[in-house]
Amino acid sequence: MSKSFLDPTIPLQKEIGDQIYGALNGSTLEFIRHECEGEYLDDCAKEGRERNGMMIEKNVVPDIYKLCQQAKHAVGFKQNIDFYLVSDADINASSIASDNPDNHPHIIELNAGLVNLMSKQELLYVIGHEIGHLINGDAQLKKLTKFIYADKDEEDIPDFVGNRFELYDLLCELGADRYGYIACGGDLKTSILVIHKLAAGIDLTKLNISLDALIKENQKHLDYFMNSDKSVGSTHPVHPIRIQSLYLYATAKSQSQLEKSMEEIEDRFNKLDEEDATLNYFYVAAGYLMANIDGEASVTQKHSIVCRVGEKCWFPIEFIKYVIENKNIEELYHDTIKLLVEMDKDNKVVMLDYLLSIAFIDGDFSQEELNFIYDFGHEVGYSDDIIAGCIKRLLPRSFRLNLTF
Ligand SMILES: [Zn+2]
Repeated sequence: MSKSFLDPTIPLQKEIGDQIYGALNGSTLEFIRHECEGEYLDDCAKEGRERNGMMIEKNVVPDIYKLCQQAKHAVGFKQNIDFYLVSDADINASSIASDNPDNHPHIIELNAGLVNLMSKQELLYVIGHEIGHLINGDAQLKKLTKFIYADKDEEDIPDFVGNRFELYDLLCELGADRYGYIACGGDLKTSILVIHKLAAGIDLTKLNISLDALIKENQKHLDYFMNSDKSVGSTHPVHPIRIQSLYLYATAKSQSQLEKSMEEIEDRFNKLDEEDATLNYFYVAAGYLMANIDGEASVTQKHSIVCRVGEKCWFPIEFIKYVIENKNIEELYHDTIKLLVEMDKDNKVVMLDYLLSIAFIDGDFSQEELNFIYDFGHEVGYSDDIIAGCIKRLLPRSFRLNLTF
């Protein structure tokens, strides 16, 4: 009897993906993208592979063809895929998702370097991993972002989206790893060895290492990196997280146990120290009070609050709503000011800068807003002339013209 597997979907991946999709107005712009691009990108992808690679066909390379089909069957993927061998010495594989797999099959390419180096079992893992990316639709958000920001450099894409892509990409890998594991029949040791081989460039296959030793060693490695810094992503090796996540998936007794143990990893992605956590409460309370002081908060003011809170919090809109609905905002505002000044005197400037940016962002800097700024200044011990000087200093950066109708 074949092994049964838990649902490989990672809820957080879907939640972060939905959030980016919503921020990008995906439900309308995805339609425009299809209208503009048609099947052009799919044609280009196909042409590139035909030029540089060799299609894996049954009568030409039957062994690899069989593995590809076996992996596809194991993960239950029905859409068309063309598999290619490409003459690249790098040990790598990749998938190119098609917008219309009925007309243009998805593409998975296996580099010759990879095929030469891997056993059949290992190749099953790699192919399954790549099919996993197709199953999860991992490429869709990248296509949409690229369409919207066409010629812009990566640093011109708003931080809100860029930062989330760091986490999203990592979660895509964790999700795809689960399909790799399923494709090789639930062979955890092989799966982990392949992740080592591909991500860390270390081939442990020939050493007689036990699965237990691999997991223990990885946990040590993971603790080191998780504790050394708050952020996870480009600056850290990702493979210890991948291994731990796959281990949890492979050994969980139930779906709920899996989600619970994954939370522990996910919490660490977003571990805020006390000061950042307090700042986020301040941004919500101060932003809310300032934005509503001269009538209803404008769209630009709300946008600004969400972006600021979203720098350190993955789901800022939910957090803001939670705080507004459950906390006494006035009290929270004064409490957080007091705490932040105690933590660091420089926070006074951070807070004032933020308050001014919210006051200026809609172009309408009212007397009520100015009074609110002065009240804040007095609360943190500034004299009137210092407050005026601070406002002058921050004007060039935050000021907006007052033009409305
Ligand atoms: Zn991948």
